[in-house]
Amino acid sequence: AATKENVLTFIHLFNDKMQEHRQALTDMDQAIGDGDHGINMSRGMKAVEEKLPTFEEKNIDDILKGVGMTLVSTVGGASGPLYGTAFMKAGMTSKGKDELTAEDISAALEAAIEGIKQRGKSTTGEKTMLDAIVPAKEAYDKAIGEGKGIADALADAEAAAWDGVEYTKTIIATKGRASYLGERSIGHQDPGATSITYLIQAAKEAGE
Ligand code: ADP
Ligand code: MG
Ligand code: MG
Repeated sequence: AATKENVLTFIHLFNDKMQEHRQALTDMDQAIGDGDHGINMSRGMKAVEEKLPTFEEKNIDDILKGVGMTLVSTVGGASGPLYGTAFMKAGMTSKGKDELTAEDISAALEAAIEGIKQRGKSTTGEKTMLDAIVPAKEAYDKAIGEGKGIADALADAEAAAWDGVEYTKTIIATKGRASYLGERSIGHQDPGATSITYLIQAAKEAGE
């Protein structure tokens, strides 16, 4: 199971990745949006990292909620409210839990996805973060169903998320700023799908 320590490690790792890939994510957004996705995510996660010491005494649900609220309040772009909602909804499913079982993690992912869909009025096939996280969650569930452990299931999820990122190159954006480009968005990978794949990678690396 994933303990509170694993959850805190996951958040640290996701922050590290958003700092490391800041420029690449920004370049991707330059091609089909307004060139700030790396700036937005690195700023938001830096704010989360700075608050993390004050979260450490809290329960998993409050930690996830705190991350979400910090992202909403520090990220101006579309990604702030979307990631923020995802973390807050995932937090709600963790209420009263000292650790997360394989099933709890599935429920948290499901809630995060539903949160993004509701908030973004979006679904898969629109060249957004959903095209990575939805197949990732499906691969995770399949792996758990086959008797794999959490870390192995998250590795499968990450592989599916990267496939999702590749898929975003082949489709037209119909949500967010990239939708203004229409057909010209084809050939470019979606920055939000890419950043959320790093989130899955961070979860995998955080261990169980
Ligand atoms: P902004 O577009 O406001 O500058 P960002 O550049 O930080 O915000 O984030 C852009 C990313 O947000 C996109 O790559 C896409 O994955 C995601 N996104 C945008 N709109 C939606 C939506 N309605 N539903 C889901 N994801 C979305
Ligand atoms: Mg942008
Ligand atoms: Mg912007």
